Amino acid sequence: MRIETIAVHAGHKIDEAWGAVSPPIVLSTTFERAEDGSFPHGYIYARSGNPNRDALERCIAALEGGAKAAAFSSGSAATMGIFNALKPGDHVVAPRDVYYGTRLILNELYASWGLRVSFVDMTALEQVEESIRPETRLIWIETPSNPLLKITDIKAVSSIAHRAGARCVCDNTWATPVLQRPIELGADIVLHSTTKYFGGHSDVLGGCVVTNTDDEFFQRVCSYQRIGGAVPSPFECWLLLRSIPTLPCRMRIHSENALKIAKFLRSNPRVLTVHYPGLQDNPGYEVASRQMEQFGGMLSFEVRGGQKEAFEVAARVKIIKRATSLGCVESLIEHRASIEGKDTTTPQNLLRLSVGIENPEDLIEDLSGALG
Ligand SMILES: *Cc1c(COP(=O)(O)O)cnc(C)c1O
Repeated sequence: MRIETIAVHAGHKIDEAWGAVSPPIVLSTTFERAEDGSFPHGYIYARSGNPNRDALERCIAALEGGAKAAAFSSGSAATMGIFNALKPGDHVVAPRDVYYGTRLILNELYASWGLRVSFVDMTALEQVEESIRPETRLIWIETPSNPLLKITDIKAVSSIAHRAGARCVCDNTWATPVLQRPIELGADIVLHSTTKYFGGHSDVLGGCVVTNTDDEFFQRVCSYQRIGGAVPSPFECWLLLRSIPTLPCRMRIHSENALKIAKFLRSNPRVLTVHYPGLQDNPGYEVASRQMEQFGGMLSFEVRGGQKEAFEVAARVKIIKRATSLGCVESLIEHRASIEGKDTTTPQNLLRLSVGIENPEDLIEDLSGALG
């Protein structure tokens, strides 16, 4: 089956009790035992399992071409689930420009727990090789990266990880399985913040871990989910499964719009640089063309001037919303450095754009007016 069909049908099955085509939301926290003490439907208690969560996990695993998936209450909770499956003393290699929240999890929550981490430039494969230690257990990649849209070669980094006896995890939040399937390229685990494109409408917080094999490591991720309890509610799982059928068509429109806007921005004299892997002179273009179907809906650009000029441009947009987050139907613009805080490495003149599914001409007119 192809991705559009998987998105509509995986995890969706006709409800046995009523024949309902749209699945019912099962809110019950507890499930009845049979007279012999068994659980005839396989469910015991909502933290350990729920039909809506199972359906969502089956769907996302199928989209990524993985064996199993575990859904969490946020992308960050899913990230915690992966690091928690490691052991104190283990070493992780992560990108220098990793998602800001992932950096906080590593530096503030797991450093004192005993996890070691090296931050490297993932586009420089020799730096990745050099950072490997005997206790390296995991290489974390995120491509395209946030907010500079750097492209990591998933196949190359996965093989470096495997040669070192480590796992390769790919944060696939920005590309989604519609544009990029890391497991097919050699990654062992895929992470998602389903808050973004999967949800797509700025109204669900969620995360997911997908594994290529149902091994002991993934079982530890599942223990963290079920015992730790960072699980999504049945309604959130239902909302995500409600959004996923349109994911393939949304991703195509996001990508087409972003490419048009990237080209427009590049031709504007007020714009210094545009970071978008779909531009042929972007350093990531070649690898992105190989590992992605299209280049996605995210881009960033640097305006002439500094923080003041960037804020002024953001202040003048009329259609595009000034807000953090991404991956939703509405376009969002954000001054990233000021949301990331004082130790940010993001340029002060940079604005990040999550391109929505509006008409691209309206978005270009909006940006054109804002740039002045
Ligand atoms: C948003 C995001 C996360 C964290 O997800 P939450 O759902 O906000 O916890 C992780 N990685 C990337 C790339 C993200 O964009």
